[in-house]
Amino acid sequence: MNKLQEEAKQWVENKYNMSDFNAYQRSAARTAIYPDQHKILYPALGLAGEAGEVANKVKKIMRDGVDNQPDDWKEQIASEIGDVLWYCAALASDLGMNLGRCASLNELKLQDRKVRDKLGGSGDNR
Ligand SMILES: [Mg+2]
Repeated sequence: MNKLQEEAKQWVENKYNMSDFNAYQRSAARTAIYPDQHKILYPALGLAGEAGEVANKVKKIMRDGVDNQPDDWKEQIASEIGDVLWYCAALASDLGMNLGRCASLNELKLQDRKVRDKLGGSGDNR
């Protein structure tokens, strides 16, 4: 990694590490009430379930059309996205990770792929 890349990485990490993601993670921890013996697995399963709830609501839009959705359909999806975020925060906490760093690493990965014109395609390490 050259100096410019290192500076970019540090800038992105600083952008989120001490900010909103970590504040949200601390807040989410106050409502994490599952037993300690279920740490990691509980939020991992919850994350999968809530992601499924998001997908199910989007599926219903595909099936019935946006004009046949309840008036608050966007709010319903926003609520499910929030549930996904809560489980991401809980999982990161259980793994001793900082949610802001997870966000930063993801942004770095995607920016790198964009620069290399690799946003399309598949594979974790492209
Ligand atoms: Mg939900």
